[in-house]
Amino acid sequence: MRINGFEKTTLVNFPGYVACIIFTSGCNFNCDYCQNSMFISGKEALLDEKEILEYLDKRKKILDGVVISGGEPTLQEDLINFIEKVKSKGYKVKLDTNGHRPEVLKKLLDKNLLDYVAVDIKHTEKDYKKIIGNVKFDIKNIKETVKILKESNIDYEFRTTIIKGFHTINVIKDIIKFIGSDKNYYLQNFEDSEHVRNKSLLSFSEDELLNIYKEVKKDFPNISMRGLKNKLYEKEEIKNV
Ligand code: SF4
Repeated sequence: MRINGFEKTTLVNFPGYVACIIFTSGCNFNCDYCQNSMFISGKEALLDEKEILEYLDKRKKILDGVVISGGEPTLQEDLINFIEKVKSKGYKVKLDTNGHRPEVLKKLLDKNLLDYVAVDIKHTEKDYKKIIGNVKFDIKNIKETVKILKESNIDYEFRTTIIKGFHTINVIKDIIKFIGSDKNYYLQNFEDSEHVRNKSLLSFSEDELLNIYKEVKKDFPNISMRGLKNKLYEKEEIKNV
């Protein structure tokens, strides 16, 4: 598999598990806010798959899971084969995906190769392209991914990275209507980093986040918000991160 990055340990990316993260090469979207923009083109130097699999062999007592992220993993022709190798070592597997290749997701689920799936829902049905750039895109694929996961027995989450100026309270409510109210829907604040290419993008302040959370929750009590700092959780007794 074409691998551009590897994080040896994460305690926060795979709910309930100590995991490592594998970042695959190349993405079919071109999001301005991408934290892994260096992996989009697929031109970065590749890491040795064999070495990563050997690392997994050595770390079986410490790691429980492997997160396959990107880039967009479902573009990898040998993704199924790679995950089979990881599963044969006894690891749980989480897939991070942009949801545009539901046929690959379906194959992976049919083969029982996944334990958790996280799908980025970028924007409303109408304005999806405001986030993903000028790329080939069909909203039907995202809808199909949502449907497949909702009809499956697997643990999953939908999540939206909210950016000031792009995601208003009404936009967020429209996104939830689009995917259907779901207990597994998370909002997370945009964070700038050295790899975010568009330096004009803004995150929300804590007060703004709290206001969004309260307003959206009135209509959709199941939503959860990530990224609020502890003091807000103490103040408002918001516990569902
Ligand atoms: S879909 Fe994900 S990996 Fe691809 S450009 Fe967007 S944020 Fe980056």
